Amino acid sequence: MSLRLRLTLWYTGVLALTLLIFGSALYFFIAAITKINIESSLRRQGEEIVSQIQVIPFFNMNLIQLPQLNDFRTAGTFLQTNRVDGRTDKSGNFQGYLPFDRTAGFQRAMREASWFELYDIAEYKLLIYHIRMEIGGEFLGVLQVATEVSDHYNFLAAVRTLLIAMSLFTILLAATLGMYLARKALKPIDSVISAANRIEKGEDLAQRIAYRGPKDEIGRLTETINNMLGRIESMYKELESAYRTQRRFVSDASHELRTPLTTIRGNVELLQKLWKEKEGVGDPQLTLEAMRDISQEAERMSRLVSDLLALARADAGTQIDKSPVALAPVVAEAIRKAQFLPRTAEWRTGDLSALEGAYVMGNTDYLQQLLFIFIENAFKYTPEGYVELDAVREGGQIGLRLRDTGIGMNQDEIPHIFERFYRADASRGRTSGTGLGLAIAKWIIDELGGSIEVVSRKDEGSLFIIWLPLIPPPREDGEAAADGAPPDAE
Ligand code: ADP
Repeated sequence: MSLRLRLTLWYTGVLALTLLIFGSALYFFIAAITKINIESSLRRQGEEIVSQIQVIPFFNMNLIQLPQLNDFRTAGTFLQTNRVDGRTDKSGNFQGYLPFDRTAGFQRAMREASWFELYDIAEYKLLIYHIRMEIGGEFLGVLQVATEVSDHYNFLAAVRTLLIAMSLFTILLAATLGMYLARKALKPIDSVISAANRIEKGEDLAQRIAYRGPKDEIGRLTETINNMLGRIESMYKELESAYRTQRRFVSDASHELRTPLTTIRGNVELLQKLWKEKEGVGDPQLTLEAMRDISQEAERMSRLVSDLLALARADAGTQIDKSPVALAPVVAEAIRKAQFLPRTAEWRTGDLSALEGAYVMGNTDYLQQLLFIFIENAFKYTPEGYVELDAVREGGQIGLRLRDTGIGMNQDEIPHIFERFYRADASRGRTSGTGLGLAIAKWIIDELGGSIEVVSRKDEGSLFIIWLPLIPPPREDGEAAADGAPPDAE
């Protein structure tokens, strides 16, 4: 059974019960008042007549004199005396006699002083008040005071019919109106259900429930569901984009791995052919070139694989083990090693005094890797001029600045260089690279709680500033000294 029908039935039932109680109370009240009025008027009249019975002394006898009934008659009241001596008198305002069973009537009068009786005579209803007539202990007979009550009964029947008809009409009206109101009130719930159904079928997550009513329970429910849908939609979008990124990453990685593999395979096949043809080592020059290609590609592949591994670990939520690290020795070591890297630009260092006593929360190996990613890039993308490293302090942070006079980038490319496999136009083809270095660098910086700033101009050069939050130098016996020591492995 629907909620709408149940609600309607409930309040129609409650209304019907209320009307029944109220209608019955009203009917019985009117009936009781009417009865009391009629009976008290009959009783008053009867008692007055009885009180007028007189005893008149006559010689040595007492004569009993009943009052003249016609003196007491009023419109609509009929009087009759039934005496034990067999006489019956009546008021002159009606024909015939009032019904009276003399034997039973007198017997009852001995037991009861007065009583009422209702008689149906033809189409009339007569209410008759019987009162015992006696004087000085002598039973004289029964006085009957009657009135016609058909009108009252008809009136009560009309009241009853009217009450029943009005109640039925009210119940019917309330049920119809209630059904309509319940439908109107529950309509937003219907739209909530159908919207939820549409979303469940996966038609459209951008769907919202339209509601322009007041902020009542349904309004709040609609708002809550809409907010929930908003959250589900944004979560779904995030998941979808993460899934798309992951898929692109896998396909880019496969593509990148295929290139060196193809080169290696081609060279191996070439060597096989050469050695088969000449039954020996073949042309030493060609052999050497093929071997060099294989070695270079294998190296490129192992770099790519280790970069992919680093990023896969980052995706898996790997966290860098951090402890206080003194920056100066780490940077000094990077500067020393950098001079041995292949490069065409001059390698310079600027003012590094900001590094004195500078400590960060980090890890020596990862800090070295981070610096190398930027230094190697700077060398790679700077055919002539210089690459310079210096350090500055600003608001509790230390900035490692790497400036180069290389090929630079377009402004619209800068936001993308930290994406995986992204390579700016100018770099593609000209230099070898995987497009993963800066993605790894970004992950390390995020892990260390730092940030990165890039300023670059095409054909003029670039400036990368790695900002890291400084921490107070640890105490003498702290573990920073051990961790901050330059690593001896290359
Ligand atoms: P890649 O292996 O291509 O160097 P990276 O992730 O390290 O990958 O860098 C992404 C891209 O950012 C590079 O391909 C290059 O276009 C651009 N880039 C990075 N460093 C520099 C720089 N110092 N000067 C000019 N462009 C740079």
